[in-house]
Amino acid sequence: MNYRHVLDGKALDLPVGKVVCVGRNYADHARELNNPVPTAPILFIKPSTAVVALDAGFSIPQHQGECHHELEMSVLIGKPLKNADIETVKAAILGYGIGLDLTLRDLQNTLKEKSHPWEIAKAFDGANPLSAFVAAARLPDPEATDIALSINGVSRQMGNTADMITPVFALLAYMSRHFTLLPGDVVMTGTPAGVAALHSGDRLQLSLGSVLDRTATVA
Ligand code: ZN
Repeated sequence: MNYRHVLDGKALDLPVGKVVCVGRNYADHARELNNPVPTAPILFIKPSTAVVALDAGFSIPQHQGECHHELEMSVLIGKPLKNADIETVKAAILGYGIGLDLTLRDLQNTLKEKSHPWEIAKAFDGANPLSAFVAAARLPDPEATDIALSINGVSRQMGNTADMITPVFALLAYMSRHFTLLPGDVVMTGTPAGVAALHSGDRLQLSLGSVLDRTATVA
């Protein structure tokens, strides 16, 4: 793996751990896929082997149907969290970034129809391109931050973390009741509406508030 966590331009001496994700954390996205809006967060995990650097350009699986982009704010964990309260969560966050929860949508739909786990549609190698992180103190309000994705110059996803069904800090607290979060783990906080298929050669522009602006190309 050539990926390392980077914070404020500096490579960190931190392991790359698991990625804990949440499904349907924005009501507009749940509706666009005809899913009910959940009453409790729907959690799933991607292994460390799913993580790749976003900026370096990334590849998508071939011949497995549509691979969708899901633009999400990412959170880098710096201290262990287990059964944590909100204040403990806040103190454990090292940084924020932007990432893509890549999803093999056709495969996921087939698995959902059979009531099977959707792991292979979400956790494949390279399924989680991540930007570098900015130090937590530099993001003025993680619970009210714009995220945006345009592809080939066309706006595709625009959201604000204030529209999350479970807000950032409460989400991490909830996650920590099910999975211990460790330094080097990453949390993906859910995607707003506008998900669609990626194609080779697509040029992406992604932003997190005014603190991060990244471009990436699909190989
Ligand atoms: Zn997602």
